Amino acid sequence: MAPPTQPLSINQGTLREQYDFRGFVEACARSGITAISPWRDKVAACGLQEAARLIKDHNLRVSGYCRGGLFPATTAAERQAIVDDNKRMIDEAAVLGCECIVLIGGALPVDSSGKRSRDLRGAHKMIEDGLAAILPHARAAKVPLAMEPLHPMYAGDRACVNTLAHALDLCDALGAGLGVAVDVYHVWWDPDIEAQIARAGSRILGFHVCDWLTPTRDMLLDRGMMGDGVIDIPYFRRLVEKAGYKDCIEAEIFSAENWWKKPGDEVIRTCIERYRTVC
Ligand code: ZN
Repeated sequence: MAPPTQPLSINQGTLREQYDFRGFVEACARSGITAISPWRDKVAACGLQEAARLIKDHNLRVSGYCRGGLFPATTAAERQAIVDDNKRMIDEAAVLGCECIVLIGGALPVDSSGKRSRDLRGAHKMIEDGLAAILPHARAAKVPLAMEPLHPMYAGDRACVNTLAHALDLCDALGAGLGVAVDVYHVWWDPDIEAQIARAGSRILGFHVCDWLTPTRDMLLDRGMMGDGVIDIPYFRRLVEKAGYKDCIEAEIFSAENWWKKPGDEVIRTCIERYRTVC
């Protein structure tokens, strides 16, 4: 398969330990990277206006803004606070010029005594309600929301929208302004993925790559560099291209014991080489 023509974007999570926001932007720019996907905490530490200025000065595309959602909570007051925070995130994304906000659903809520709910259906409903509550704000700000289904291993404690089919059902129910992010790490195992990516069509707002290592030693922080694991990444690129996707290919590698310990320039260099050769 020919190398990708979509620009490579570097997700800031890939270099979370190496750089603050300024360092991240400068490292990407000097490596010839033309797109990034910032994390909200790093932007906050830098200052929103300063972050926007750095992005503009380095002429960078912003393929996504990480990460919102996380709607389920035990009380109505908590859920309202989460909705308000997501609206603030939308305003920040507009200032930064983000092409979308990446949202994850959130998980089974924990009550004030520390007990986690077993009401998965209820959590699903809270996610739908939360999305419905922020969508008008997102539409008005012209910031599309990208629902990212996460691997089902996270359903208990992180995010309980776990298939592209479920994410697309939410898009169907809620309408314009809501799309999906397809991350190969989360969907590679899904036997229905071909039909679901076709169904997604123009609603694909992001395409994230890394690799699935066997064995995976940590559920969150042991993602592999593209080419080092078992995911057939070109297969997924072919599917999203067939669905009409032309935007960035975003490298998103949380790797506490490996890539986070290497020099940032080496990580970026490796991402570029793998993007050209195995994506
Ligand atoms: Zn992702």
